[in-house]
Amino acid sequence: MRYAFFKGKIVPFGEAKVSIMTHALNYGTGVFEGVRGYWNAEKGQMYIVKLREHYQRLESSCKLALKTTLKYSLAELEKITVELARKNDYREDIYIRPIYYKSQEKIGLGLIGVEEDFSIFTAPFGTYLDINKGIRVCVSSWWRISEKSAPQGAKITGAYFNSSLAKAEALEKGFDEAILLSHQRTVAEGSGENLFLIKHGKLITPPLSETILPGITRVCVMELAEKELGLKTTERQISQDELYSADELFFCGTAAGVTPIIDVDGKKIGPGTVGPLTRKLQDLYFAAARGDSPKYADWVTSVY
Ligand code: PMP
Repeated sequence: MRYAFFKGKIVPFGEAKVSIMTHALNYGTGVFEGVRGYWNAEKGQMYIVKLREHYQRLESSCKLALKTTLKYSLAELEKITVELARKNDYREDIYIRPIYYKSQEKIGLGLIGVEEDFSIFTAPFGTYLDINKGIRVCVSSWWRISEKSAPQGAKITGAYFNSSLAKAEALEKGFDEAILLSHQRTVAEGSGENLFLIKHGKLITPPLSETILPGITRVCVMELAEKELGLKTTERQISQDELYSADELFFCGTAAGVTPIIDVDGKKIGPGTVGPLTRKLQDLYFAAARGDSPKYADWVTSVY
């Protein structure tokens, strides 16, 4: 049987139900996280990646977007998450979804004084995009929500309508994923991933001021590039044209891991195959995330 954390306790998954009148369901008034648990068969262990960092971001999303503070301490949230993952007893890769949301059955907009709740569910989750062959993406006609439309840096349920539009457009046109531009027409990020570009051996990524989500995997990639490959990342604006002339491009994120991009808008990136630096960073990232790199053992939390 599967379990969820709901209204303060771990309950059978089927009991974790909300009303159709729930404020967050109707108005998108929730903040959430996506966390990965990687099953390491050789070690017989499940590793949760960067758990503390995810709850730190949830804490800041609460403050920035919901104008509230988490009802639980970071240590409590980590403990509950590990307990829930253990109880679900998975022996495969999983996704963990903590969500803090306006739970009141209430008609009417606003945030202050609206009751809220916290829940977590988990589900088996393999690869999100093709990490081996790489993916074909398009530049979306939808712009990334600006800091004038929603608080920058918060992971807000309602704001993901923007990402869903971009992803739907990409799939409709036969691509695997979308890149969204910012309101300044410069490159922001993917619908659910941050983006890196490699040109003449340099690693480049848009800065947080490009209205991107401050990705946790983004920081991991920068750390690995510097410590393992001696490559410092340049954070600067990237124009749409630079995408097409990049030597290598890749997405990174909790769901995506490190996913190579081999084609943008039908134009090949480099020779149209996975680039060597991307592959190295990908191998380094997955080794650390799966608990196979002693040097990065503090990135992961053991479940069993
Ligand atoms: N950008 C967006 C819009 C996302 O939804 C995500 C996934 N959370 C990311 C970037 C990557 O962030 P992280 O590495 O923390 O998963």
